[in-house]
Amino acid sequence: MPHIISRRSFIGTSGALAATLTTTAGAASLQSSTTARLKGLPLPAGARLPATPPRRKRDDSVGIAIVGLGGYALNQIMPRIEQAQRAHISALVSGNPEKLAQVGTAYGVPADARYAYEDFDRIAADDRIDAVYIILPTAFHADFTIRAFAAGKHVLCEKPMALSSAECEAMIAAGRRANRTLMIAYRCHFEPYNVEAMRLMRERAVGAIRLIRTDQSYRAGPTTPAQNWRFNRALAGGGPLEDYGLYGVQSALYLSGEMPDSISATTFQPKGDPRFTEIFAHVGAQWTFPSGAVAQLATAYDSAGANFGQVRGTDGTLIMDPATSYSGQRMRIEGRNARDFTPGDPTVQFAGQLDHFTSAIRDGTPILTDGEMGLRDLRLIEATYASARTGRTVRLAPDGRMLG
Ligand code: NAD
Repeated sequence: MPHIISRRSFIGTSGALAATLTTTAGAASLQSSTTARLKGLPLPAGARLPATPPRRKRDDSVGIAIVGLGGYALNQIMPRIEQAQRAHISALVSGNPEKLAQVGTAYGVPADARYAYEDFDRIAADDRIDAVYIILPTAFHADFTIRAFAAGKHVLCEKPMALSSAECEAMIAAGRRANRTLMIAYRCHFEPYNVEAMRLMRERAVGAIRLIRTDQSYRAGPTTPAQNWRFNRALAGGGPLEDYGLYGVQSALYLSGEMPDSISATTFQPKGDPRFTEIFAHVGAQWTFPSGAVAQLATAYDSAGANFGQVRGTDGTLIMDPATSYSGQRMRIEGRNARDFTPGDPTVQFAGQLDHFTSAIRDGTPILTDGEMGLRDLRLIEATYASARTGRTVRLAPDGRMLG
């Protein structure tokens, strides 16, 4: 008997469905001049390194290998791992030997727990490593996830989960085979403002939802696909939608509590701009939901900065601006329940995400932001590009697959 599942329930669905899902090919129509190749880059300018190595706090602490020592790993994630209850950095994986030595010394990671990318599979024999945190350009997420599972490790993988829904399905299947945990690092699910916004919307604080608007944009400096992986089709996919715009996709889903049943979208790729020879500069999309609500999503690499979310309901409007930052969130409701909100320190999201992951590993608690969620989002991204390419509205099944 086929699975019968409502759009609303798929939002929170995990595990059980994946085996019944079919593959849709990546839909972006852009050309890439390069194939994805691993590169060992030097320590980024201004990288934060600790003055003294952090200490492991508990015997049951989960040993994590950080895979990729770029800006996000060094400046946001690694300095905050100490704030997590039971996680510690037990190994590093990088393509740059000098950076590996510098970062390894700063974090007190022994020399024999510092791996080059080509030695990655040797982590199988390293009992200090329980899990890997993959913080590489998107093109490498699937390969390193599947290899980590083959090595018997659990995986926390940065967003977007992968370049295509087909890759996501392969990652989920590899995790199942290995009987290991897969989590996608969607940090906003552990950030107090976004968690409170989800609760408020579930309690109908603005009444019945009619319109959701999200905008995640910035203006990129001069660059080329060879200089910056985010502008390289083979490494990043179609561009801002998979990167910053994914926060808008996620917000529209967790604020509405529904899956869209249609997407119509446009993309913009300016001619003669060296930044946008391979990726889109701007993506705009309109979703409809079964409830009658509509979402309008914008994301760009070529316009003034925005990180904005708004939900307009029958009785009021929720406004989040900035909505999904590392810190500095602001949130208010206008209308019947008018109020400003300060639900907590947004920076706890990084440790909260790790605590969620390590609880799943040590206590068997379910993962909220699992592989199925990452897969769902890649399906919506593929449907967005399919709509933009064909100029037609794409209809969606409750699990995000394109219909017809
Ligand atoms: P980055 O460019 O600063 O670092 C990328 C790392 O990958 C570097 O260590 C680099 O040496 C390595 N690498 C290997 N092969 C490479 C290649 N061919 N080109 C470029 N780098 C290569 O990138 P980042 O900002 O740290 O992003 C890494 C991952 O983290 C991405 O998946 C990104 O989406 C994610 N990220 C998430 C957030 C968030 O808020 N959750 C924020 C920033 C980045």
